[in-house]
Amino acid sequence: MVKAAVDLHIHSCLSPCASDDMTPNNIVMMSKIKGLDIISVCDHNHTGNLEAVSKAADEAGILLLPGLELETSEEIHLLCYFPSLESIFNMQSVLNNYYLNIENREDIFGPQWIMDASDRPVRKVEHLLTTATKLDLYSCVSLVREIGGVPVPAHVDRSSYSIISNLGSIPGDLRFNTLELSRGVSKEDFLKKYPEYADRFFISSSDAHDLGMILEREWFIELEKLSIMDILEKLRG
Ligand SMILES: [Zn+2]
Ligand SMILES: [Zn+2]
Repeated sequence: MVKAAVDLHIHSCLSPCASDDMTPNNIVMMSKIKGLDIISVCDHNHTGNLEAVSKAADEAGILLLPGLELETSEEIHLLCYFPSLESIFNMQSVLNNYYLNIENREDIFGPQWIMDASDRPVRKVEHLLTTATKLDLYSCVSLVREIGGVPVPAHVDRSSYSIISNLGSIPGDLRFNTLELSRGVSKEDFLKKYPEYADRFFISSSDAHDLGMILEREWFIELEKLSIMDILEKLRG
């Protein structure tokens, strides 16, 4: 058994709302300094920086769980975790057909940079990533599972962009084993309000948009061994 220190929700400079210094190497180096074992960079609706983050993480000896924060057509944020870059890029190729294709007003929202493994800018994504996609929740969940991924509703305690804020409850037939709570919200406090979810597995991550926000060794997940398959199994239940 290992107790892995994790932060499974970090945004890179591809998310327009994240700071420009959230480059692949900066994220990995800061995670290393903070002593994390497993990280997941989950940008809004895009996986463009994961190849570079993966290279940096390999070099630094940190495990990267390939992830994405997808916004469904109901404006629900869903973290989607995958076993490999190959599988998450399969997800990306499907997702490419479901964008609203609204131009990113960089002056309002900020740039959406894809970087290479040396933190050099490669290109910008031109369509706005912080908006809903045309994939509805049910389609999204089936698609993620078909490709071998695990969907996890994001920040379920929040009053916006969460499955509970937008639907009133978490539909049982979606069979979510894991729910994400915002940083600083305890499982106990959440369950006082929503005791019906007491049987779920909870994770808490930083949702970091700048380097300082990345977690220290403060949230742990017990695993058989330190591997992507083990953490996915834990999340899948
Ligand atoms: Zn979110
Ligand atoms: Zn987020």
